Amino acid sequence: MQRNGIHHVTAISGPARRNLDFYARTLGLRLVKKTVNFDDPGTYHLYYGDETGQPGTILTFFPWEHVAPGRLGVGQAETTLLRVPERAIGYWTHRLIEQSVPHEAATSRFGETVLAFQDRDGMRLALVAVPGAEDEPGWSDGAVPSEHAIRGFHGVSLLVADAAPTAAVLTDVLGLAAAGTDGAHQRFRAAGTAIGGIVDLHAAGGFLAGRMGGGSVHHVAFRAADDRAQAEMARKLAQDHGIQATAQQDRNYFRSIYFREPGGVLFEIATDAPGFAVDEPVATLGQALKLPPFLEGHRRTIEAALPPVA
Ligand code: ZN
Repeated sequence: MQRNGIHHVTAISGPARRNLDFYARTLGLRLVKKTVNFDDPGTYHLYYGDETGQPGTILTFFPWEHVAPGRLGVGQAETTLLRVPERAIGYWTHRLIEQSVPHEAATSRFGETVLAFQDRDGMRLALVAVPGAEDEPGWSDGAVPSEHAIRGFHGVSLLVADAAPTAAVLTDVLGLAAAGTDGAHQRFRAAGTAIGGIVDLHAAGGFLAGRMGGGSVHHVAFRAADDRAQAEMARKLAQDHGIQATAQQDRNYFRSIYFREPGGVLFEIATDAPGFAVDEPVATLGQALKLPPFLEGHRRTIEAALPPVA
């Protein structure tokens, strides 16, 4: 069955060790894959997710030891929203204080309690209290008790000059539907998908364009059930919107096409299959450095060049 919504979000960060410390220890996500950037094997590609790394829970990073900070602006993802059970907000408020994480007082948006904070690179994130999230699985063996654990993405908000052209791609190609307005934010929701089902468009008119760097989201990936569904989305994108996606690329854990949406954000469409258990068992996800077959022959050189993370 086709499930739409977010597959993963990929961002740029500072040192890998600091990134791992923040996401695995402070936020209690599971490192589900430790690999390298296939296009630049001297750099890690770290994937965090839920216990099994299901689509809609995957936050990934390209960590750079000496990264210049990014600047948020139009044509970028503004905030990455993470789901937690309603009763967990008190726990998280204390945890962010205790761990010296810069954060704002809880507010309400679209009728939900939102606790905004930033990671060590200034990436904007928010915990959103979602009724019923307590029934979704939380990682049973993480740094945060499972009752309070993050349940994957709630969604992302995108900062764009004009919402309409991006909205057309979301509704026409990516399977989302308009779901209300709150101030300058328009919400779009994937039918039948709880985890990662939301995109909020924040129309900011003549705001400055963003600059990619540490703390910036590099791209947002949406789900396709399989190659056929992905090809159909690419066809609609070209035919109805005049946007040509790239050729399909094999990312080992999913197969992807990429395109820049009209608002300027880099979008990807990634297949649900084969998933993160394709090259290591679920029980030991993220422990060993995994390389795709075409890089396996260079393992010793690659390992020697990567900074230690543990
Ligand atoms: Zn991606």
